[in-house]
Amino acid sequence: MPNTPRLNDIIDQVTSYHPEADVDLIKKAYVYSAKVHAGQVRKTGEPYLIHPLAVAGILAELHLDEASVCTGLLHDTVEDTLATLAEIDDLFGGDIAHLVDGVTKLSQIQFQTSEEKLAENFRKMVVAMARDIRVLLVKLADRLHNMRTLGAMKPDKQERIARETMDIYAPLANRLGISWLKIELEDLSFRYLRPDEYRDLAEKLGKTKREREKFIDDVSDMITKALEKSGMTGFEVSGRPKHLWSAHKKMVTKKIPFEEIHDLIAFRVLVENVGQCYETLGHIHAIWRPIPGRFKDYIAMPKPNGYQSLHTTVIGPKAERIEIQIRTREMHEVAEQGIAAHWAYKEQGGSNGKHATLKGDGKQGFKWLRQLMDWQREVKDPTEFLDSVKFDLFADEVFVFTPNGDVLELPRGACPIDFAFAIHTDVGMTCSGAKVNGRMVPLRHVFQSGDTCEIITNKNQKPNKNWLDFVKTSRARTKIRAYIRGVERERSKQIGQQLVEKEFRRFGQSLQKYVKDNSIVQAFQDGKYKTLDEILIAVGYGKLGAQAVAERVLPEEVIKKPQQEPKRRSRLGQLIDRVARRSSSGVQIAGIEDMLVHFARCCAPVKGDPIVGFVTIGRGVTVHRHDCPKVLALDPERRIPVVWESGGTFTRPISIRVVTDDREGMLADLSSAFTRNGVSISEANCRAGNDGHAVNTFKCGIVDLDQLRKVVKTLEGVKGVHSVERARSA
Ligand code: MN
Repeated sequence: MPNTPRLNDIIDQVTSYHPEADVDLIKKAYVYSAKVHAGQVRKTGEPYLIHPLAVAGILAELHLDEASVCTGLLHDTVEDTLATLAEIDDLFGGDIAHLVDGVTKLSQIQFQTSEEKLAENFRKMVVAMARDIRVLLVKLADRLHNMRTLGAMKPDKQERIARETMDIYAPLANRLGISWLKIELEDLSFRYLRPDEYRDLAEKLGKTKREREKFIDDVSDMITKALEKSGMTGFEVSGRPKHLWSAHKKMVTKKIPFEEIHDLIAFRVLVENVGQCYETLGHIHAIWRPIPGRFKDYIAMPKPNGYQSLHTTVIGPKAERIEIQIRTREMHEVAEQGIAAHWAYKEQGGSNGKHATLKGDGKQGFKWLRQLMDWQREVKDPTEFLDSVKFDLFADEVFVFTPNGDVLELPRGACPIDFAFAIHTDVGMTCSGAKVNGRMVPLRHVFQSGDTCEIITNKNQKPNKNWLDFVKTSRARTKIRAYIRGVERERSKQIGQQLVEKEFRRFGQSLQKYVKDNSIVQAFQDGKYKTLDEILIAVGYGKLGAQAVAERVLPEEVIKKPQQEPKRRSRLGQLIDRVARRSSSGVQIAGIEDMLVHFARCCAPVKGDPIVGFVTIGRGVTVHRHDCPKVLALDPERRIPVVWESGGTFTRPISIRVVTDDREGMLADLSSAFTRNGVSISEANCRAGNDGHAVNTFKCGIVDLDQLRKVVKTLEGVKGVHSVERARSA
C-alpha cells in the first residue's frame, strides 16, 4: 500500500506538471479540511485527515488541476462535518464548491448491484450525474483509497463495498481508460470478494516468482538484442505479471489450472513512433512464431476508451506462449492514464503524432473520446477544455431521480409525463403537474440528467391527447392512446345505448328486458358483434342502425304492431338521430374516425365558417364556430380541431334577423329573396315596433357560407331593409 503523501509531496507533484498552480489554494484547502475533520478518526484508527490527503495525492498522480486536488482534500467535508457548501463556495469559489457538491451527491447514491444490468445502469448514471468528469475522477480516487484501507471494515461491509467497486467503479475506470486504476480496483475487490481464491493465486505467484523473473529477463534480452541488431534505438522492453484478477478470470473462463496459464506475463515494448511499432512487430515475428488469430492492431482500430497498441502472442523460447504489446510512449501514457492523459498540463507541443494517429480510426469506437481528442487540440486552456468536456458518455439517455432517490432511465427529450408513466400507469393517468428540482414546470419540460422530479397527481385528471405530441417513451404513448380509444368507445357505447333504447321505446319495449335475457347478444350471434357493448358501440359509431337492432331483436308480433307515434323528442335527440343515420355529418375530426358529431345551437355553424370541435362526454363532438364565446369559455383541453368535408352538401339551420320598414308586402318580398336563392324558411317571426320599424327573424336551412352571403345580399337589396344579420344562434 502506498504511503499517505504529505501535503508538500502533493504540492511538489502538482507544480511538477503545472508550475503555475495556485499552491496557496491547495494549502488553504488542507488547513480547512484539517480544521473541520479535527478529532475524527478513521476505522483504521488513524486521524481522518489521512483520507482526504491520500485522495488528493491520487488526483495529483493523475495530473489533475488544482481545483480537483483541492476537491480531494475537501470531498468529505460537507458530508461528514459541519462545513456547508456555502462556506466552501465562499472560501474556495464556485468551481470547487460545484465539484465538492457533485462528489457529495454521488456518495449519497445507494447502489444495489445484484444484477449486471442494474450495475450497468448505475454506471451510466454515475457518469451522467458527474456532468463534470472531474467529479467522477475524485470519486474514483476516493474509492481507491477506501479500497486500499478496506481491511479495517467489518466483513459484511467489506463485501458490499468490494462488490460495488467491482461492478461499478472498476468498469468506470476502464471506460475512462485509466488502466492502472482499473487493475488496482479489481485486485483489491477480488481480495475481499473471494479471499480464498485470491490468497491461493497470490501464493502460487509468489512461489514461482524467482523463476518468472528469470524468464522475464531472458525474454526481454532476446527482444532487445533482436531490435538492436536491426539498428533500432530509443526503445524500452519490460515484462510484468498480469494482475491477479485477470489471471483468475482466465483460469475460470478457460477452465484451466494455474499451472497451465502460460501467458501470465505481458511483455511490453515502448517505441518512438507508429512506424517503429510495426517494425518491432516484424522483428519479433521473425524470431518467434506468432499464433494465428492472436494479432490485434489496436493502432489502426483503437479500443473505445482510446487505447492503442499492437498485441501479438508468439511461441517463445521454451515453447511457451508469450503475449507482447507494442506501442509508442504517447500511446502508453493514454493506456495508463486514459482520459486523464489528455488534459494533463502539458508545457510543450500540444498537438502531434498521437492525435494524428487517433484521428484516422474511422467508424469504430466511442465518438466521445475522439471528440475529446479533437477538442483538446483546439482548446489550449485546460480549464476551458474541462468545461467543454462536461460530456455525456451516454448521450441518448437521461437519468432522473424520484424524490426518494430512485433513478429512472429515460430517453433523451423525455418529459414528466414519461416519468410519471414510468413510475406507474396510475401516476401517468392522473398526472396533472410536475416539479423539477423543486420548481413547477410545464408537463412538456425536457429533462436533464440528474433532475429530480416530483409528479403531482389529481384523481380527476385524465390523459390528454396533446400529450402524444411530446411524450418520448413508447410506454406513455401506448397508455395514452389506449385511454383515448377507451374514452371514444365508452362515449359511443352511451350514444348507442340511447339510440337503441329510443328505438325500442317506439315499439313499447324496454331495452333492459332484452339485455337481461341476453336475447340481443343471441340475435347477433352469427355476426361480428359478440357482446352487448360491441353492438351498442357499433350503433354509436353509426356502423349499425338502431332500427336494424330492433328488427333483429324484437319478436315479429311486436314489430308488426302499429307503432306508437314517436313522441316529440328533444331537438338534440332528433339531431343525434339524424346525424347517426347519416353516413357523414359533413365534418371531419382530425385523427378520429367514426365519431358522432352534432352542431352547437349557440352559434349554428354553417359550412365555410371556421369551426372547432368540443368533446362532450357521452355525446360525441359538438361543432362550434371557432370564435363562439361559449366554446371559448369551456375547457380548452377538450377542444379538438375539425374541418368541413370538402364534398357533399349539408344543410344547416340558422337564423337571420332583418330589420325593415314596417310596410305592407314586406314579408312576401323577404320570403322571395330566400326562395330565389334556393333557401327554404322553416319559421318566420315578425314583430313591428313603435318606431315604424319591424324586426323579422327567419329560421332557414343554409348549405354553406356562399349561399348565406347571397341571401344576405339579396335581402339587403329589398326596398325598406335597414339591416340584415346572421343571428348568433339557430
Ligand atoms: Mn471519502
